[in-house]
Amino acid sequence: MTPFHTSQAVRRVVIAGGGTAGWMVAALMGKLMGKQLQIRLVESEEIGTVGVGEATIPALHAYHELLGINEAEFMAATQATFKLGIQFEGWKTPGESYLHAFGRTGQDHWSAGFQHFWLKGRAQGLARPYGEYCLELRAAEANRFAHLPRNGLNYAYHLDASRYARFLRAIAERHGVQRLEGKIAAVLAEGPDGALSALRMQDGSLVEGELFIDCTGFRSLLLGETLGVAYEDWTHWLPCDRAVAVQTAAVREAPPYTRSIAHDFGWQWRIPLQHRVGNGLVYSSQLLADADAPEVLRQQVEGELLIQPRVLRFTPGQRLRTWEKNCIAVGLSSGFIEPLESTSIHLIQRAAIRLLQMFPAGGIQACDIEEFNRQSQKDLEHIRDFIVLHYHLNARQGSALWTHCREMAVPASLRHRLELFAQTGRVFRPADELFAENSWIQVMLGQGLTPKAWHPVADLMGEAELRQFLSTLHEQVAHTVQSLPPHEAYVRRFCAAA
Ligand code: FAD
Repeated sequence: MTPFHTSQAVRRVVIAGGGTAGWMVAALMGKLMGKQLQIRLVESEEIGTVGVGEATIPALHAYHELLGINEAEFMAATQATFKLGIQFEGWKTPGESYLHAFGRTGQDHWSAGFQHFWLKGRAQGLARPYGEYCLELRAAEANRFAHLPRNGLNYAYHLDASRYARFLRAIAERHGVQRLEGKIAAVLAEGPDGALSALRMQDGSLVEGELFIDCTGFRSLLLGETLGVAYEDWTHWLPCDRAVAVQTAAVREAPPYTRSIAHDFGWQWRIPLQHRVGNGLVYSSQLLADADAPEVLRQQVEGELLIQPRVLRFTPGQRLRTWEKNCIAVGLSSGFIEPLESTSIHLIQRAAIRLLQMFPAGGIQACDIEEFNRQSQKDLEHIRDFIVLHYHLNARQGSALWTHCREMAVPASLRHRLELFAQTGRVFRPADELFAENSWIQVMLGQGLTPKAWHPVADLMGEAELRQFLSTLHEQVAHTVQSLPPHEAYVRRFCAAA
């Protein structure tokens, strides 16, 4: 088959869907190219959005900077709180927990990461737990937060997904994006070589364009249903295929971290916002029936239910190509990995930026399609390995899910990383991979994998020097944490200034 290409200039862009994906793309494209392009976004209030997706990672700052977003205004508008990491409770064994915090732990040497010095210190009885050398982790545990002037805290947000979509919509519309309300009844593929030509709305009107962005959620109406791009299923590595979500009233102060609590059938999230808490269970339909899941969730939450629990079905995996002909899928329509490390909004951000970096203004080239698809696939595979890691290294007994995950053959890329860390304590981050060395180390240690050896550079430090090095780092972190105000009070003051 000849690779798709067209010399037709792109002047009209149609974004199908107005969830977080649709509006994130619309806002960025409007800001950068709103004067050159006609950008229209179609969404249906009746269909609605998935309505979850409330925990983020620090990379979101880059997207906000591109849009020139004022942080206090954004936080007030989305009722956001700060997030310093995720607490994993019961993931290794019931009763044990660890925090995967953003930021760095300790101090690296150019030849060897801090973990090597820590491993040696631990063997000599000189080191505290690894996380105690991480500022973000200890601030999270102490429930404190502030913007620090230098070497500040590395943080993200918990936000209200519906308010965030509205906030982005206002930005997009300011930059000329036009919103069309209504249901898409059919997608017409009458362009050259079967390319998409228009959306036919339920009222019979046509929304025509040269480039189509599929943000229609799990349904993948354009890329999956119309263009027939197949889906690669990762259920054998990630057996959870359902979620049930509910919002509750807050009954305690919002901590600056997400909670992820393991259960025999999957896990539970708690995301604290200013005005409420987002809760949900991610589970395997083999172990928990959809009919029972809402009641199981009800028993696990605190506070009054603000909406009725809603069950969502998904298949973990990705579309084999996210750009096909003149259609690019962004968000859930392109693939999905469960929200364990809050990566979906980030993937939308990456796709939106990549799309603008490779915008096919003068026509679509096969090499652009190929490069876009290669990069998108790598993004998701890196994240997949990191998520599989959490499940695979577990010592939970008596559950089919956890036993399967412990015993399953993991992707070769992950197997290699685990082996390297176990034997040598080393972790390397491939170029442009999302999760840095410190994330991998925190989760591998947290799940119980301790390396057999450390780098010889750690042996250059004598016992007294190592003791001094570790205790100085520990005191510096403690001292900074003590100077921080309580998180919730800080959020209130910060948003009041918006
Ligand atoms: P949707 O929100 O489903 O939007 C689809 C849009 O398409 C809607 O506007 C809809 O009206 C429109 N549409 C569909 N069909 C038609 C039609 N026929 N006609 C007109 N319009 C149509 N991500 C994170 O980063 N952090 C998290 O903590 C997180 N938690 C999650 C928890 C769960 C249980 C799930 C399932 C996902 C989670 N995600 C999370 C992912 C995140 O929710 C999504 O990536 C994000 O909301 C983007 O969704 P979307 O815009 O692709 O799809």
